[in-house]
Amino acid sequence: MSDTKIPYKIYLEESEMPKQWYNVRADMKKKPAPLLNPATNKPMTAEELSHVFCDELVKQELNETDRYIDIPEEIQEFYKMYRPSPLVRAYCLEKKLDTPAKIYYKFEGNNTSGSHKLNSAIAQAYYAKQQGLKGVTTETGAGQWGTALSMACSYFDLDCKVYMVKCSYEQKPFRREVMRTYGANVTPSPSVTTEVGRKILSEFPDTNGSLGCAISEAVEAATSQEGYRYVLGSVLSQVLLHQSVIGMESKIAMDKYDITPDIIIGCAGGGSNLGGLISPFMGEKLRGEKDYKFIAVEPASCPSLTRGVYAYDFCDTGKVCPLQKMYTLGSGFMPSANHAGGLRYHGMSSVLSELYDEGLMEAISVEQTAVFEAAQQFARIEGILPAPESSHAIKAAIDEAMKCKETGEEKTILFGLTGTGYFDMYAYGAYNDGRMSDYIPTDEELQKSIDTLPKID
Ligand SMILES: *Cc1c(COP(=O)(O)O)cnc(C)c1O
Repeated sequence: MSDTKIPYKIYLEESEMPKQWYNVRADMKKKPAPLLNPATNKPMTAEELSHVFCDELVKQELNETDRYIDIPEEIQEFYKMYRPSPLVRAYCLEKKLDTPAKIYYKFEGNNTSGSHKLNSAIAQAYYAKQQGLKGVTTETGAGQWGTALSMACSYFDLDCKVYMVKCSYEQKPFRREVMRTYGANVTPSPSVTTEVGRKILSEFPDTNGSLGCAISEAVEAATSQEGYRYVLGSVLSQVLLHQSVIGMESKIAMDKYDITPDIIIGCAGGGSNLGGLISPFMGEKLRGEKDYKFIAVEPASCPSLTRGVYAYDFCDTGKVCPLQKMYTLGSGFMPSANHAGGLRYHGMSSVLSELYDEGLMEAISVEQTAVFEAAQQFARIEGILPAPESSHAIKAAIDEAMKCKETGEEKTILFGLTGTGYFDMYAYGAYNDGRMSDYIPTDEELQKSIDTLPKID
């Protein structure tokens, strides 16, 4: 099909929308390593996991064999309120860069949570409701996940308790108020409401909090209260499964116009948007049907894939969660305080870690001033004010398009634009004032936290 026929925005008809999620683990010859019980170092059983997570989500977490899993009707209905998300041909960006590359982005910022996180939040809330639970607990860092979950919980009339990393709670009062508007109960973490929070506070009274620490509190809050379970917005295989809706829609839309991406790019925090976007394409690669180049983009200040080790580690500071084998910087790793671009989790999805380890996916790291430069450029040309997280993918996509300009190759690039940046204006302000600096941890710093990994044999 000639280029001119491809619209700026490719939408899907309701009838074309995916009715199933795709489970990439089913096509992986080598499966991700199992979650381990930190007390016994034995694989976590469904029964053990069910104390922390909803029953159906435990099944999905352990399901390595079903390639497709039906999206329940109610979730499909909810998806219809804000999906399909647009797949945009970045004609204006291409023109400005004067590149022969064709650039597409899948934009997930078209809902109030401002990110892709709602795709999994609604699924997790649905299964909690199905199980007859009173509510769920979770942590949130920058606040997108907490917002998405509070929206999903209010839709299903579930109680929602969010432990929000203290510095974000103070720096992002608007996110907090969005969550409260949807009825969530928001507590700055670490807090005195949990045993693990009190312990962390007594050791580090001045701490600004961290995701790892907020996870520990949320898990304790779930397991110590009748009728509650803990839900997580990234990293877990069930979350990648729900996020596969991003990749499924992209693939259906591209197939409609005979477009085949050569390069697929996503930012990587815990790996959920990237895992979701690449899943169906990776499936084709795993089955030997097609080949694609996949690029994970992470911040140079929190480089778990590019500088971490592939080992079992704790998922949280309080060491209450199962152990997961993943690329990790160590659960004690804290990104520098001047790091403003999100994606600050110490580990990476076990699915993506395994794919990366097998050489099926590449990873790069980028510095935050370069990320904000790309964000500003993108905002001015394509009109959307991107989230700092998403801008990591923008930076990499622009770099790939500029390589095409040098070589004259007409590559097709697809990247995930995970969300909008309206709540990140302090970070944008620092960039606009020229106050933003880059920070790259030294090998010694990384080694210090990597040395604290649990010894598993
Ligand atoms: C949470 C978030 C990310 C990173 O999380 P992943 O699980 O790695 O996808 C990226 N972009 C936005 C807008 C987010 O809210």
